[in-house]
Amino acid sequence: MATVKKKAAKKAVKKSAKKATKKTAAKKSAAAKAKPGKYVYVWGDGKADGDGSMKALLGGKGANLAEMSNIGVPVPAGFTITTEVCTYYYDNGKKYPKTLDAQIEENIAKVEKVMGKKFGDLENPLLLSVRSGARESMPGMMDTILNLGINDEVVEALATKTGNAKFAWDSYRRFLQMYGSVVMEVEAEAGEHHDPYEVILDEAKEKAGVKDDSGLSADDLREVVEKFKALIKDRSGKNFPEDPRAQLKGAVNAVFNSWNNDRAIVYRQKYGIPAAWGTAVNVQAMVFGNTGKTSGTGVAFTRDPATGENVFYGEYLIDAQGEDVVAGVRTPKPIAKMAKDLPKSYKELQVIRKKLEKHFRDVQDVEFTIEEGKLWMLQTRNGKRTGFAAVNIALDMVKERLIKKEEAILRIPADDLSHLLAPIFDSKAEKAATKVGSGLPAGPGAASGKIYFSAEESVAAAAKGESVILVRQATSPEDLRGMIAAEGILTTEGGASSHAALVARQMGKVCVCGAHNMSIDYDKKTLTGNGVTLNEGDELSLNGFVGSVYAGEIQSSPSQVIQGLLENKAAAKRSDTYKKFMELMTWTDKLRKLGVRTNSDTPEQVEQAIKFGAEGIGLTRAEHMFFEGNRIDSVREMILADDDEGRAKALKKIKVFMKKDFKGIFKALDGRPATIRLLDPPLHEFIGTMTDEQKQDLSEKIGMSASDITKRIHSLHEENPMLGHRGCRLGISYPAITATQVEAILEAAAEVQAKGTKVLPEIMVPLVSYARELEIQKQVIDETADEVRKKLGLKKSQLKYTVGTMIEIPRAAITADEVAEHAEFFSFGTNDLTQTGLGLSRDDSSSFLPAYQDAEVLSNNPFASLDQGGVGKLVEMGVLGGRSVKPKLKLGICGEHGGDPDSVKFFHRAGLNYVSCSPFRIPVARLAAAQAALEEKGLARGEVS
Ligand code: ADP
Ligand code: MG
Ligand code: MG
Repeated sequence: MATVKKKAAKKAVKKSAKKATKKTAAKKSAAAKAKPGKYVYVWGDGKADGDGSMKALLGGKGANLAEMSNIGVPVPAGFTITTEVCTYYYDNGKKYPKTLDAQIEENIAKVEKVMGKKFGDLENPLLLSVRSGARESMPGMMDTILNLGINDEVVEALATKTGNAKFAWDSYRRFLQMYGSVVMEVEAEAGEHHDPYEVILDEAKEKAGVKDDSGLSADDLREVVEKFKALIKDRSGKNFPEDPRAQLKGAVNAVFNSWNNDRAIVYRQKYGIPAAWGTAVNVQAMVFGNTGKTSGTGVAFTRDPATGENVFYGEYLIDAQGEDVVAGVRTPKPIAKMAKDLPKSYKELQVIRKKLEKHFRDVQDVEFTIEEGKLWMLQTRNGKRTGFAAVNIALDMVKERLIKKEEAILRIPADDLSHLLAPIFDSKAEKAATKVGSGLPAGPGAASGKIYFSAEESVAAAAKGESVILVRQATSPEDLRGMIAAEGILTTEGGASSHAALVARQMGKVCVCGAHNMSIDYDKKTLTGNGVTLNEGDELSLNGFVGSVYAGEIQSSPSQVIQGLLENKAAAKRSDTYKKFMELMTWTDKLRKLGVRTNSDTPEQVEQAIKFGAEGIGLTRAEHMFFEGNRIDSVREMILADDDEGRAKALKKIKVFMKKDFKGIFKALDGRPATIRLLDPPLHEFIGTMTDEQKQDLSEKIGMSASDITKRIHSLHEENPMLGHRGCRLGISYPAITATQVEAILEAAAEVQAKGTKVLPEIMVPLVSYARELEIQKQVIDETADEVRKKLGLKKSQLKYTVGTMIEIPRAAITADEVAEHAEFFSFGTNDLTQTGLGLSRDDSSSFLPAYQDAEVLSNNPFASLDQGGVGKLVEMGVLGGRSVKPKLKLGICGEHGGDPDSVKFFHRAGLNYVSCSPFRIPVARLAAAQAALEEKGLARGEVS
């Protein structure tokens, strides 16, 4: 980065940092509002105890309901039982704080007053919803109960008061359905494909000759209620509680318990949400979308969450309640139609759409209900979006002056940039493919795979390495594991706000939902569309940008960003996605302090990496070049040689390859620095798996008999090759191995340099534990360099290089001050540092890591995301130790972690100079590095102004 740019960036950050302090102050006052011993926070009637900043205590839903109430958006009154109560509940053997009951009573009275109704009253009854809500939204993971407070008497009162018996009985049957399944646990049993309540409803509809449940009459519904009660009694052995206060207790319990249900746990693991956060419970006055034609319910995003386009995006249903829209019981209508159906409410909703976006300064995902023409907002939260939408929305909002660049950068989950790099279908191949259906484009991208009709089968197939398309009529939270395992998701029912769409968007999965022109037969395991029937295991392709479904596999081609960036294609460069991506990348470069290099082993990879923004090579692995073609023979020859002469012969061959490769790499780098790690061949990777044929073949090439090869392999056999004779240990035993590589590197450097390209080789010694090891190797390197210079007639200043080491053994990190005496740079080899720091084999841990994740010993795979508390400490020790001796010691990291956003942020905080990662992860690292620089200034997502 140019220094000028750096200064400008600093200024910008300073400015926003100042404002952030203000915000922190506001936050403090919010925390001050959180009074000890106060477990219940009320809202309604234009005011609230809490506000939007109190998400940790009130959960996202509760905090935002309070915030909406504060800013004058119409929300039904209610109160939040805090997450502290949840923590208390689990810490105290599922008991509640003593004062809780009294606080709940007090606040029921407040809600009654605002709404002008009374809970359990037989004239003007107040019904309640009981809803979960954690700090971060976990859509559909936990439970909601609506119409609570209803019973045989209240239902009559409700009917009389509203003059709408059908509505009263519809509310009652809905309550029984939810209370029965959530609290009394009467649900579809294992193997039962259909929900038992839906079966009863279907029978009633058939008997009445109507298609939709809204077509059932009061009498029909009265019968349904009787059957539901019987079902609950029959399966649970208990009557459901008639007493509204007992109902409330049961529902609150159920919500707290649902924090630890299976699907919530799976979700928490996937998104790294700590179990200790707990959920809040929101108890809220019901408003009714199921009273007739002037009522309804819906969900909407203030912008398109799949593409990011600035259009109102949502669905609604007339005469419906709660999850009807999302659950796909009836097919919802697109939100634009509301302008005709309910024009007054639609206008109001548009005003609220703008107001909420302006207030929350982000895309909102809202739920609303209209009762007799009156609009009520029931929820708002920052909308989950795809990587495409995240980039589009963030950049658009900067243009609209709704947010600053810094905020835009903080808002894009760095990992989601990979969505923009993922392949799309080859357009010719797609045109030629057989289209078998179409649905809503809910998750952009292209996916081909074998179809499976259940989550379990999808998980099993994916475990076998198959690429899977999960095909369901509709998905539910129970399908989560299958959705995680699948490449793509297809549903034949439900709309743009269905569970499938929501989850796919969030996970960045390719998804087509509500393909109504296709049908599924679960028993036969077939999918039919456009006259074509596909069986389980057949190939299917989904185009999630437009919603097309094709039989068979379709060849893919690179994304627009890749086509523009790597292939220099003009059409791709004109695309909005490409332009926004490039703009974002320039912003990140102005802000970040960490350098970003690449781990690349070939000139082609290096060229790619530079196009992605690499500023040099952080790791090129000398031995990786040898997996290609016959080159491995010479490495094997070197390993197998039992005397110096044999080794020298093999090394000569190796040097030829190496020199050629390094020349290519130096040229591709065009003056950028290159850290080259000397050979580190764990023996088993090179000779451990040789077949008889390979031995025979090698025998002819190197003039050693096959039986001698076998003998030598036996004598070299290591029980634990990862901890064996590798890295600098080879160079210590056989200095010629080090010397030959240095000759290759420096001769290549001299030749490339002679043609006018600057070369900066950084020679890196692997697997050092003792300072002395590095000292010895450095001596070999320096002596060899002197010889090369002499041979080529070059002065010291005419052929430069530096020597450093990989810090990948805990001892080297712990004694970094000693090691640094001999090093001009360190690069943390976090793959091996994790392996050796945790005593955890990279190659064997996959068999038990899942159990560790299930048991919440680990929340992440430590080889993918740095174990900051452990291995991270070693890195910090290495930094401190190294810089205590050489304050300007150059520090980098070259493990897989260099492309993981959380780890990148850690390395920034640890004070490294650069991270290095594979070419395709470079944009992710650049963005994460910029975010780290902003976070250092105290800015966090949503806190920049
Ligand atoms: P989730 O977190 O899974 O979205 P919610 O707690 O938001 O669950 O509840 C689901 C649905 O229940 C809402 O979309 C809304 O339609 C309905 N609902 C919740 N509370 C009320 C209420 N007070 N009045 C009417 N409908 C409600
Ligand atoms: Mg919901
Ligand atoms: Mg909701």
